[in-house]
Amino acid sequence: MASVAIVGGGPAGSSVALHLLRQGVDPADLVVFDKAKFPRPKLCGGALTWRGTRALEELIGRPAGGGRTISLEFRCALGRFPVRERGEQWLYDRAALDDQLLRAVIGAGVEVRQETAVTSVEGLDGGWRVRWRGGTQRFDWVVGADGARGVVGRSVELHGGFVGRLVEAVYTPVDEAPDDSVLYFDFDPIGDGIPGYAWIFPYPKPGERGLWKLGIMDGRGVTTGRVLRQWTDAFAERNGFRRLDAKIAGWPERYFDPRARAHLPGLILTGEAWGVDPLLGEGIAPALEMGRYAAAQLKRALDQGVRRIEAYEAGFRATEEGKNLVFQGRLAKLLYGKGSHRWLRVLFGHEYMKELAAQGTQAYGRLQQHTWKLAGSYLRQVLRGGIPPNRPIPSTMGPQLETSAP
Ligand SMILES: Cc1cc2nc3c(=O)[nH]c(=O)nc-3n(C[C@H](O)[C@H](O)[C@H](O)COP(=O)(O)OP(=O)(O)OC[C@H]3O[C@@H](n4cnc5c(N)ncnc54)[C@H](O)[C@@H]3O)c2cc1C
Repeated sequence: MASVAIVGGGPAGSSVALHLLRQGVDPADLVVFDKAKFPRPKLCGGALTWRGTRALEELIGRPAGGGRTISLEFRCALGRFPVRERGEQWLYDRAALDDQLLRAVIGAGVEVRQETAVTSVEGLDGGWRVRWRGGTQRFDWVVGADGARGVVGRSVELHGGFVGRLVEAVYTPVDEAPDDSVLYFDFDPIGDGIPGYAWIFPYPKPGERGLWKLGIMDGRGVTTGRVLRQWTDAFAERNGFRRLDAKIAGWPERYFDPRARAHLPGLILTGEAWGVDPLLGEGIAPALEMGRYAAAQLKRALDQGVRRIEAYEAGFRATEEGKNLVFQGRLAKLLYGKGSHRWLRVLFGHEYMKELAAQGTQAYGRLQQHTWKLAGSYLRQVLRGGIPPNRPIPSTMGPQLETSAP
């Protein structure tokens, strides 16, 4: 059978491998490369939405450890509203979660080469030469599941979506802790000219209690890391938290762009190497779902003995996850674009959306199913009260903050 190299053993790489195996691919045909030794740290809030929780459960059952939340709260200077999910949402320390996923791959008989950083992939004899420090090997197929800074995409000039900037650290409440069954999404950064949001998530670190992760996402990558760190500490202080980590760490995030290419003959990108949710930066659920899609497409190509996957990108955009990422991208363009203050007012003043969010009958990330109803009810609101102004929403930080925004 054809040989397949999966570069990256995070959620996307593990999902591809496990789904390929489920479809009958021989474990001996797969090799997973990861530069890290698992369990490895991964800067991440570790929060899954309900649909991510379902996708994970379906893949390996409920991983050990972790925590649970039951809803989201969206808030900013304009107010707050709950976003209820259909069921519980799991929350993990990523080192522990990714380790359990990868162990399922190893347990199924796949060779996983840890501490093996792939340095390039090059076309070779109708396949690909995968190069790492100390060796090379030819594979028929390569799956780039190597995340935001992936080497596979860079090697073959498939650049995935655009890149944002995030920072995060571990904090503890000074006095009373907030409700730890809620994930808090705070859009105040927009008032300070930062196109993104900040989060407060409980952090279920194995063996410890009372920890939280606070951070901020700049969905356009225009704010300096220094400002993001300064903002996060000030945000933490306002919300009654004290930082425990000596430093606030930073990591980029690659977002889904419907125009980005993710396939060459014998090679596909998946997970964050291709791009994740541009609005909230949710990446675990997309990585699991993109992995499922990539595996199905790859299996069909292997069965047919072809190196091209017809409409790999368009086919994904037509899936539920693909539609969701496109929808989230459109919202991100509004909320993080030139009219961000107006669209934040729309978001926090949109009665039908708030109703929908509070019902607990929709999974977050499935709002695209209601696009027309949402647009219709927004139009009715505009007819009644006019278009919300783009007047600056009060800043929480005072005079701003250097960004490199134009
Ligand atoms: C600060 C921050 C907070 C976040 N919070 C959340 C959250 O709460 N919920 C959520 O759903 N998402 C969150 N995300 C996004 C989420 O972490 C990622 O989108 C998700 O991990 C993507 O999974 P992946 O498998 O595609 O990539 P990754 O998890 O990045 O895995 C890629 C793997 O490839 C390996 N690799 C990379 N380069 C090479 C190489 N050259 N050779 C071999 N191996 C290589 C890496 O070691 C890694 O194991 C957050 C991201 C950041 C930065």
